[in-house]
Amino acid sequence: MNLNPCNDKHFKHLQTLVDADRFSCGASVLDLHAKDQSQHAPCRPEVVIWPQSAQEIRAVLKYANDQRLAVTGWGSGSSLEGNPIPVCRGIVLDFSRMDRILDIREHDFQADVQPGVIYQDLNDKLRHTGLFFPPDPGARATLGGMIANNASGTRTVYYGSTKDYVLKLTVVLAKGEIIEIGNRASKTSSGYDLIRLFVGSEGTLGIVVGATVRLVGLPVEFSAAVATFPSVEAASRVVYEIMRAGLNPAAMELLGPECIELMNREENLDLKLSPTVLMEFHGSTTGQLKEVLEIAKEICASEGCLMFSPGVGRAERDRIFKARHALGEMIIRNHPDCGILVMDVAVPIAAYPELTAAIKQETSKTDLVTYFLSHAGNGNVHLNIAGRKDDKLQWEQVNRMSEQLVRKTLALGGTATGEHGVGLGKRKYMDEEHGAALAWMKRVKDLFDPNGILNPGKIFP
Ligand SMILES: Cc1cc2nc3c(=O)[nH]c(=O)nc-3n(C[C@H](O)[C@H](O)[C@H](O)COP(=O)(O)OP(=O)(O)OC[C@H]3O[C@@H](n4cnc5c(N)ncnc54)[C@H](O)[C@@H]3O)c2cc1C
Repeated sequence: MNLNPCNDKHFKHLQTLVDADRFSCGASVLDLHAKDQSQHAPCRPEVVIWPQSAQEIRAVLKYANDQRLAVTGWGSGSSLEGNPIPVCRGIVLDFSRMDRILDIREHDFQADVQPGVIYQDLNDKLRHTGLFFPPDPGARATLGGMIANNASGTRTVYYGSTKDYVLKLTVVLAKGEIIEIGNRASKTSSGYDLIRLFVGSEGTLGIVVGATVRLVGLPVEFSAAVATFPSVEAASRVVYEIMRAGLNPAAMELLGPECIELMNREENLDLKLSPTVLMEFHGSTTGQLKEVLEIAKEICASEGCLMFSPGVGRAERDRIFKARHALGEMIIRNHPDCGILVMDVAVPIAAYPELTAAIKQETSKTDLVTYFLSHAGNGNVHLNIAGRKDDKLQWEQVNRMSEQLVRKTLALGGTATGEHGVGLGKRKYMDEEHGAALAWMKRVKDLFDPNGILNPGKIFP
């Protein structure tokens, strides 16, 4: 990578490309774009630009490519692996002023959006249509950031992740060429699937300036259940059995008692302090959902379930899942002197009980404060590990635990990142996870971005 720092000549030229109020080198602006929500060290860009059109982005990229300046996209900065940290400085493109929902084609179940649209705002706008966009990461994320990270969330076990909802993208490539990829058909076998290549590429192959996303109907009927267990191991075996029984939960979250304690305290809930599985089922009739809950109850009972509360109403369900979504922020708030490392490993579902057992064994060896939370139906665990901010030795312990668990995950046929992306934090596992395929990823990167200007320093070790 051979990139140049911005100098006065560059600033002068870049300033001519956008309005004055959409260009800044101010210290506070640079600081706001130096860090995501991870524990990775901040790094200031040299300039922040708020583009408003594909043409402006094209002009910036053409110039940056000619001059070998780094360019990094910025959605909400809510990433957890350092994905948008501009480690090679240069230019940050902040998409908060490209936040328009351009078209909602209700009859096709599709919406056209700019990259800066926040997914919760899209869903608010869709409410009257009976449709929604299912991927739901906990933070207020943009569609551009979600596409770049292939984000997912609590409903992914049933609805899939962001990659399953992107039909079409408009992308500006490193040299300034604007291309459209994909189409609006609900299925296609036409050529290489460039959509899947760009989704999850973390802004390293091109800049997304527009997207057509798929929407689905809101469920007609839903039912939720809360089940508590004597141990995380018993609960994780239940997760496996429920998936194997083909009950198709719309959410299947497993939380340790330490998470439940926090949720009870902060959100005034009254859940039992034990390992807990939160389940949600969507369907077309209440009769069908009743049967599903009966089977789920039997499976839970077979593993010594301490309590099974079926038929949780919508208001209570909303309260519990609101608390579940807020859990990450609660953990941070409750440890003001600590940084929190959020693990994001995922294994094939049959290996999930073995992974949870390994986590228990590893956490019991230390006095580190940990929180076990998991999109269990996807075999995806976010162990949160707290480390005192200025305690170097403790951070070595935190990182060691995280590394050991990632390696265990890979040995189980899993992945170092289920949904947060590689960013800076997971680069070191890419060789082990991908072997020879990593070199082919690098060739793809070099083809789209021969000068390495797009989000440099990410994904590759
Ligand atoms: C409390 C909390 C809970 C979370 N829970 C989840 C969860 O359950 N599931 C999950 O998947 N994630 C979760 N996340 C992580 C995060 O919200 C997601 O990764 C999200 O997709 C990031 O979106 P963003 O808009 O903040 O993007 P940013 O963090 O700003 O950027 C993400 C990446 O996208 C690139 N980028 C941004 N816009 C563009 C564009 N237009 N074109 C090309 N590249 C672009 C950036 O360069 C960067 O590489 C959580 C985060 C927090 C803080």
